[in-house]
Amino acid sequence: MKLTIIGCSGSFPGPDSPSSCYLLEAEGFRMLLDFGNGALGALQKYMGLYDVDAICLSHLHADHCLDMCPYHVVRTYSPEGPLPRVPVYAPSGARERLDSAYAMPDEPSLDTAFDFVGLTPGMFEIGPFEVTAALVNHPVETYGFRVSHGGRSVAYSGDTGESAELVELASGADVLLCEASHLDKPGLPTGLHLNGRQAAEHAAKADVDTLVLTHLVPWNDRDRVMEDASRGGFGGRMELARSGARYDLG
Ligand SMILES: [Zn+2]
Ligand SMILES: [Zn+2]
Repeated sequence: MKLTIIGCSGSFPGPDSPSSCYLLEAEGFRMLLDFGNGALGALQKYMGLYDVDAICLSHLHADHCLDMCPYHVVRTYSPEGPLPRVPVYAPSGARERLDSAYAMPDEPSLDTAFDFVGLTPGMFEIGPFEVTAALVNHPVETYGFRVSHGGRSVAYSGDTGESAELVELASGADVLLCEASHLDKPGLPTGLHLNGRQAAEHAAKADVDTLVLTHLVPWNDRDRVMEDASRGGFGGRMELARSGARYDLG
């Protein structure tokens, strides 16, 4: 399984990264976790434009799903003719929300390009991957994911505040992509996002091998995010996410 970080910028794209999007590949199958704004451009550096086999959306905030709209254009109007529909595992109401974002009339709908499947917590298979979805702690219906293949696992927090479900989901994973949107300071809202220290605390409790701090908001000082994380009691490998970083998990 190979992981490529396409986009890791939190809440809006930054100068060096699109919003959230992660590519997982195994046995020639390519799956995206989230498809935030700007990701469709950067994606083409790492894979063929038409080669997406499945998409999982953690939630329907714009920075996690908006490039579904231009990708609908790719699949529906390509010079090769319409391409097969891509299965999209998403929270309830995704099709209606994305139709509305696109300003699509009632018919046709984005489901000419996508086959929307409603997410519920639990384990299921997508292509060669075993995927576990769990509800995390964010103001809208939001899932974290664990994706496993060949005995290796990548866990992804989605957007979340402190979450016991995230610890369970990530337990023993090779890589945890964990959001660290906030700098660690008093008075932060609860049930919204994590800071670097909290991300590292979740990684320590889950006993993961590698923590990748992601959903990095461009207005934050990244050195501060790492500094915060160093106080979380996590003894494993720890790094900041970077668009274009690749992890070969064998
Ligand atoms: Zn977000
Ligand atoms: Zn969000």
